[in-house]
Amino acid sequence: MISSAPPTLPADLRAFIEALPKTELHLHIEGTLEPELLFALAQRNKVELPYASVEALRAAYAFTDLQSFLDLYYAGANVLRTEQDFYDMTMAYIERARADNVRHAEIFFDPQTHTERGIAIDVVFAGIARALREARDRHGFSSAMIMSFLRHLSEEDAFVTLDAALPLRDQYQDLWNGIGLDSSERGNPPEKFARVFARCKELGFHLVAHAGEEGPPEYVVSALDVLKVERIDHGVRSEEDPALMQRLIREKMPLTVCPLSNLKLCVVDDMANHNIARMLRAGLAVTVNSDDPAYFGGYMNANYLAIASALALTREELLQLARNGIEASFIPAAEKARLGTELDQYAAAH
Ligand SMILES: [Zn+2]
Repeated sequence: MISSAPPTLPADLRAFIEALPKTELHLHIEGTLEPELLFALAQRNKVELPYASVEALRAAYAFTDLQSFLDLYYAGANVLRTEQDFYDMTMAYIERARADNVRHAEIFFDPQTHTERGIAIDVVFAGIARALREARDRHGFSSAMIMSFLRHLSEEDAFVTLDAALPLRDQYQDLWNGIGLDSSERGNPPEKFARVFARCKELGFHLVAHAGEEGPPEYVVSALDVLKVERIDHGVRSEEDPALMQRLIREKMPLTVCPLSNLKLCVVDDMANHNIARMLRAGLAVTVNSDDPAYFGGYMNANYLAIASALALTREELLQLARNGIEASFIPAAEKARLGTELDQYAAAH
């Protein structure tokens, strides 16, 4: 588990990263379920787990690819039963994020992971939203909710989920502003969800999709052209297509990159070979995010520290990554400007 920076990072740069104001745009709330909370919820809900202890569960977090992770991830989500469970999970994430100086988070949640187990969609929305609203009121922690469809299921299932969620839109209009697409990428191209994304666009939602993580650069192109997304989640394999790279630069298309996730799921073999620095230096709007931090060994600061150390990022580059995160967010212009000013003041003071 990578919980601290490698010793090569100078202490002052480490402190600079830790206190840097951040924006998180690629975070699956179900992927923040730490083994300790997972065990506690299993006990509370009398759910039997196939692991004897927290340690045994943590030891199972040795993944070989995206699918091996997803199998464990869906098993873990099975302990989430009540509104309070979703609240506790979300609040635990917020505490971690605030400790890492995250100012704003756009949170993915997968209702299908829960509705197919018989949990009502209202329960999912209510628990997550109660925690986010409390954090906003108490600490000024800003957030949004991005409802994501599971791409290994059918488009018809996605429509059923959308229809179930739409009656809740008014009730959660202060939070729910986006639609995403996640889960097993290979063999599930963006085109599969063309009609449901067109419908969500008509409804006025922001649109994002995972593409180019394990899937080929063609999936990034079709996420842009067919799904009309405003951000690409991951997108690291875009580098295999020079014309696509030029397009991403030209269109200032944000990529929500998740370095520790890529390492843990063997998308890259070594952080020193991660392409986030190359893409940043080429002028792409790359951002840093933690994806499923409970499973991948680190939250926002751990991700920043890992790439800063392995890829020798400068302070200016780290500031640019943070700035890209603000720019790529779906927050109102006034709030964006406020976060931008905070970042400028931070840069000036350091
Ligand atoms: Zn993801």
